[in-house]
Amino acid sequence: MIVDYHMHLRDRHGDEAGGRYLVDRLELHVDQARRAGIDEIGISDHAYHFRQGEAAFDHPWMQQRCGDDLDEYVATIEEGKRRGLPVKLALEVDFLPGREEQVAALLEPYSWDYVLGSVHFVDGKSVDMDPSFGDAEGWRGYFDALEAAAASGLFDVLSHPDLVKFFGRRPDPALADALHGSAATAIARADVCVEVSAAGLHKPVGELYPDSPFLRRCRDLDVPITLASDAHEPEHVGRDVDRAAAHARAAGYERVTVFERRRRRQEPLG
Ligand SMILES: [Zn+2]
Ligand SMILES: [Zn+2]
Repeated sequence: MIVDYHMHLRDRHGDEAGGRYLVDRLELHVDQARRAGIDEIGISDHAYHFRQGEAAFDHPWMQQRCGDDLDEYVATIEEGKRRGLPVKLALEVDFLPGREEQVAALLEPYSWDYVLGSVHFVDGKSVDMDPSFGDAEGWRGYFDALEAAAASGLFDVLSHPDLVKFFGRRPDPALADALHGSAATAIARADVCVEVSAAGLHKPVGELYPDSPFLRRCRDLDVPITLASDAHEPEHVGRDVDRAAAHARAAGYERVTVFERRRRRQEPLG
């Protein structure tokens, strides 16, 4: 089984095209997934794009982007399921400390197959848009937030779990090792999955997420995994997911997680 459990359906040009969340566009994602040898995809648009998330995401960058309707998004994926498409209903949700109740209220009305938790902002600073982010203090802050996201109970999977290396900045190896070990322990204790993502191959760091030593620590603690392209366009669905699967295998993984209505099971990887 090969899944691609992180991608964005939202059409950036949707206003001109007559909509942002369209079943026709979903079919493009499924077609590309088939070509890439993917058995099942999950759609995980950013929660901050929806007006229902306005109370949950109080960062100014997000507040400028919350115009879409979450009901429309969910209805599109549900319609795809009715048509027999191999798609799962998911959402990529930013973890912002102190907004846990608002996020829980945002998620509550819908039948998610799984929810991705992402740390994109630490103390108001962008992890993947601000090239000055990623010094030792940034690494500590990022992994503190990742551990808190795991412990929050809000998420099924932690996305791109070492996004902090986005610009290729790394601290002293001993610090990285300590942070990886602590995070893996917190993730195992929280019983959530980590995502093995090919997205970083196409970012300044040019590598898969997460680093092998971090992934091996997760493996040692029986933390389950998903696989992801993090595609933002239909043609990128499944891109390099074979490399993500090989990365997981090299860390000792032989199974991949499949979700349905927030229940998970393990399937043979590949
Ligand atoms: Zn993300
Ligand atoms: Zn994403």
